[in-house]
Amino acid sequence: MLILQAPSLSTRSRQHPDMTPYNRAMLLRTRVAVVRSMTAAASLAIVVLAYRRWIHVNPTTVALTLLLLILLLAAEWGLRYAVVIAVAATACYNFFFLPPVGTFTITDPQNWLALFAFLITAIIASRLSERAREQAAIAETRRREVELLFRLSRELMQTDSVASLLSLIPNAVADVTEASSAAIFLVEGDRFFPSTGMDASSIQFSQLRTLTESLAEAHTEDGDLHIPVRSGVRTTGLLLLEQAKLSTATADAIGGLVGISIDRVEALESAARGKAAEESERLRALMADSVTHELRTPLTSIKGAATALLQSNMPMQQSQELLQIIDEECDRMNRLVTESMEMAQLDQGSMQLRLTTLSVDALINRALQTCPWVEERHTLRTEVPGHIGVTVDPHLMSKVICNLLENAAKYSGDGTKITISASRSREYVTIRVADQGAGIDPLEQSLIFERFYRGRSGQAVPGGTGMGLAISRAIVEAHQGYLDVMSQPGRGSTFSVHLPLSREQ
Ligand code: ADP
Repeated sequence: MLILQAPSLSTRSRQHPDMTPYNRAMLLRTRVAVVRSMTAAASLAIVVLAYRRWIHVNPTTVALTLLLLILLLAAEWGLRYAVVIAVAATACYNFFFLPPVGTFTITDPQNWLALFAFLITAIIASRLSERAREQAAIAETRRREVELLFRLSRELMQTDSVASLLSLIPNAVADVTEASSAAIFLVEGDRFFPSTGMDASSIQFSQLRTLTESLAEAHTEDGDLHIPVRSGVRTTGLLLLEQAKLSTATADAIGGLVGISIDRVEALESAARGKAAEESERLRALMADSVTHELRTPLTSIKGAATALLQSNMPMQQSQELLQIIDEECDRMNRLVTESMEMAQLDQGSMQLRLTTLSVDALINRALQTCPWVEERHTLRTEVPGHIGVTVDPHLMSKVICNLLENAAKYSGDGTKITISASRSREYVTIRVADQGAGIDPLEQSLIFERFYRGRSGQAVPGGTGMGLAISRAIVEAHQGYLDVMSQPGRGSTFSVHLPLSREQ
């Protein structure tokens, strides 16, 4: 090949150092010819012997039998054998069955007619059967090539991302076309993807670019196939196939199919990007509206308390209460703004995960350091069997655990038990936070993960923002996991964080 070498070929020639594939094919053909010639000669000898020794019939029956033999040979093995046997059959017919028997003298001109009939039969029958064989072979090749295109199109439809499609194409094409190796080159960005096991160290992009520009249709060079990959009328790249046996039409169809599948995934990706941008814009607008709305309540309380403080000479205790309201509402506004910003970052996908593998115990300890008051007001039990590791962003994930612990503490009576446990299945590590609180109404269980949603239990506890679970869910999903809840009103709730097992564990 112009640019590539496939190690598989050198391996093959090492296994048979003296014999090339061409030599092997020649040897096989010679053997077939010898066996066929001997079989034909033996069949002729049997017919002659049978009619000379055992079955005595008139010369016409002998001639018809020989004609049948020639017809069979011509139909099965082609002209070459049939002509040789036709000549041999004429000689035998003349020598053994036509008067004067035992000589090659042809006295009657009708004998010439017999020879002529044998030869004509041989030629016509072999031509007819050869044509039928050729047509069958063409039909078989077409069927194989259509099947090949179908298999390839099915393989190429399996992915919706450009990166995985480009890395899949060489192996899929090599596999389907039975080429010893394959590669795809795309002019834009000089991207080159070889099939598995191909030595691509000596690639020269300038050479590939020139080849792509000059290639109008699939073209074979030294047994290697160069197929243009097109996007519309533009040639965007090149498929390189080593030792592939394909017709030009099929090779061009493969090039077209590859081009279309690349166009398809590029269109899908750009549509998804457009949709994501639209969704992000929608969320930003929604967020701005919700934050403005949510800020109104604490602002109204602060304004009311401040106005009351300014206008009257109220007793010390009352003014203390109003100042406390101002203090609490300021805290709430502060939390609202911080959490809204975090949520906006998560929505945009701009939050960078700094992944580290650590034990679940360490993660829980880290979370408890952020909310020590939970331990002060409740009996905390930790049930983590053995060493379970997770690969997470410790800062973000401890925030999730802390939020679940704070909710468990906020929404259940002081002194009640909170259990934090962990387990590992084949796919996930699950961390559960269970409380003995009021529980959550089944109708509310899916709503509590929505941003700014505060359930019935939430409204009874001041200071909440309704953002905690929405942020927690977004963080867990950024780790490719999921967050869910099981709760029975009056008996408590269990929130579970399911994190996919990392490969290192
Ligand atoms: P916040 O706690 O600020 O209201 P969250 O998003 O953390 O916001 O929770 C949303 C709602 O879910 C809460 O208002 C509450 O009604 C409900 N909730 C969350 N955790 C629990 C729990 N452990 N027990 C009962 N209700 C809960």
